[in-house]
Amino acid sequence: MKIDLAGRAAVVCGASQGLGLASAIGLARAGANLVICARSEDKLATAAAALEAEGVEVLGVPTDLTSVEQIDTLAGAALEHFGTIDILVNNAGGPPPGTFDDLSEADWRAAVDLTLMSAVELTRRLLPAMRAQRWGRIINITSTSVKQPVDGLILSNSIRMAVVGWAKTLANEVGPDQVVINNVCPGYTTTDRLGQLAANIAARDGIAEDQVFKNWASMVPLRRLATPEEFANVVVFLSSEQAAYVHGTTIAVDGGRSQSVT
Ligand code: NAD
Repeated sequence: MKIDLAGRAAVVCGASQGLGLASAIGLARAGANLVICARSEDKLATAAAALEAEGVEVLGVPTDLTSVEQIDTLAGAALEHFGTIDILVNNAGGPPPGTFDDLSEADWRAAVDLTLMSAVELTRRLLPAMRAQRWGRIINITSTSVKQPVDGLILSNSIRMAVVGWAKTLANEVGPDQVVINNVCPGYTTTDRLGQLAANIAARDGIAEDQVFKNWASMVPLRRLATPEEFANVVVFLSSEQAAYVHGTTIAVDGGRSQSVT
């Protein structure tokens, strides 16, 4: 199976680093032109240069996805530049950790804006063109917390479930127009962010950072963490023609760690 996305245009959110950048690289290698967004103009420019080196056209639009006005600007720029958008990868940083007692109303509202409303509002703006052309791919990067909630991540456990519920319902609404929507759930994946988390845990528990990674790997049936590329491969597949009948699903890329059968 050869995945060919030449002539397709994709918007990838949170693409300055980590899983968003890895997904953008995978899409570029399959031939898709790209619109990438993140908050930092500098990091976005670095990412855009790396993606252009893959031989595709790249538009970087600095965007804070918690701002509906900035989402509006992003969608407008994407549609104006490429005429239509075929593939949308909804992604942003994860909501902060904490227990119910730790988190305020403001924390909850900020997390809803970052994790749920960013996907809803960007999709609202890009979906009409997908429906009109009867071809579209929407992929939401979530977390295995929607398969098996993680203690101490109450915001992620709650609001990512809303993303999954939204996507499943939207799948029924847009399916007749051949717009395909799915969620992908990373498990432990070796991004910079995970490295920072490991450093924090190592300092807190007085153990070596390497030990933190070993502890994580021991919880995974495959006994290792994922690379960002392994995660991105699934995003690229879901963006492809070959994935046309994979719809309304929530796929874990977690080495078997989630103990949920669906
Ligand atoms: P990351 O923090 O490395 O990257 C997040 C990206 O989103 C960055 O480009 C950042 O600039 C961008 N971003 C953050 N807030 C933004 C905002 N308000 N507006 C625009 N852009 C914003 O995270 P990652 O490791 O690549 O993970 C991506 C997603 O997957 C996150 O939601 C994370 O919680 C989730 N996840 C990651 C892992 C993992 O192991 N890496 C595991 C489970 C879930």
